Amino acid sequence: MAYVIAAPCVADYSCVEACPIDCIRPRPDDPDFNSTEQLYIDPTSCIECDACVTVCPVSAVHDAFHLPEVWRDYEAVNADYFQATR
Ligand code: SF4
Ligand code: SF4
Repeated sequence: MAYVIAAPCVADYSCVEACPIDCIRPRPDDPDFNSTEQLYIDPTSCIECDACVTVCPVSAVHDAFHLPEVWRDYEAVNADYFQATR
């Protein structure tokens, strides 16, 4: 079960640098980086290593199973970002 980035994300990029498999977008060299409201985790690539959770300053990352109910929609929001960019 992949990890999910939810509403508190402030797009500070800490998790991108921590992720060992580079599955968090957008990156600074992506065209939408400056306009994005949050970052997103690719659910088809995430290996559930927990590295992004450890570095996030606002506790925005959760594994999908433990995603707070109020942010349940963010599982689809993360997946949709990668559907739209593929
Ligand atoms: S859990 Fe690991 S692999 Fe998944 S997004 Fe976070 S850092 Fe990357
Ligand atoms: S570390 Fe947390 S706040 Fe920063 S971009 Fe990643 S999810 Fe968003």
